[in-house]
Amino acid sequence: MKTALVTGANKGIGLEVAKQLSQNGLFVYIGSRNLNSGQDAAKKLSAEGFENVKAIQLDVTDPQSIQAAKNLIATETGSLDILINNAGISGGFQQSALATGSDVFKTVYETNVFGVVDVTQAMLELLKKSEEPRIVNVSTSMASLNLAADLSNANYPTRYVAYQSSKAALNMYTINLAYELRDTTFKVNAVCPGWTKTDFTGYQGTSTAEEAAQRIIKFALIDKHGPTGQFFSEEYFPAPANCPW
Ligand code: NAP
Repeated sequence: MKTALVTGANKGIGLEVAKQLSQNGLFVYIGSRNLNSGQDAAKKLSAEGFENVKAIQLDVTDPQSIQAAKNLIATETGSLDILINNAGISGGFQQSALATGSDVFKTVYETNVFGVVDVTQAMLELLKKSEEPRIVNVSTSMASLNLAADLSNANYPTRYVAYQSSKAALNMYTINLAYELRDTTFKVNAVCPGWTKTDFTGYQGTSTAEEAAQRIIKFALIDKHGPTGQFFSEEYFPAPANCPW
């Protein structure tokens, strides 16, 4: 049975990604910085009939937590086939380039960028043991330089500078990682889940978590002919009216 790790999977899009990967026959580690919350999520999925899931304590900003998660997966399964870097924070709203302090940037980058780098590098040894390793980094169309610079397109606001720039950095990390792994069987892509009704958006949005997860797992399950080093966003071209995400 193939194995997947989803970060920030105790709720929202990550939980739905875990459910759909389980539905596709994978054993799924539900990464959760609060283990109780992850265990509650795993119990909920098991009660729905998805028993091939297990909560794992994983705070992506804590090197010790990352190392412990890696060691546990190494002991239990010995390898990892799919890593979904889903955990993310917004840092609050109305982040102005003129006024938002570097403390906010640092907090957001700790999770959205450095957390992804640390988790990915820690899990690489396990991913390399898979025949077809896949990494999906959950990003956003709000990180698009082209869309944000297009002042005629009011649906792509530039009001979330720490969040937007963190995901732009994530996109560039994705491309660099894929490039360095180009002569291997790895596929590494960044995916926008769409504007999704979760805690993150105050349950505003045009997509359900189920639809968002479908967009993500598509790139976790691609075969050897699939793309690598790309950014995908299917909901956002064109953007839904008044969409801030
Ligand atoms: P959500 O419901 O707020 O879930 C975020 C998840 O990330 C939670 O499980 C949260 O855990 C976890 N998390 C935050 N910091 C963490 C840390 N340091 N270590 C481990 N886990 C951490 O948000 P969502 O909408 O599902 O978002 C998931 C991803 O999609 C994010 O990367 C977000 O940027 C991206 N995205 C969302 C939308 C949207 O419209 N919703 C659009 C584009 C991209 P706790 O429960 O402990 O806080």
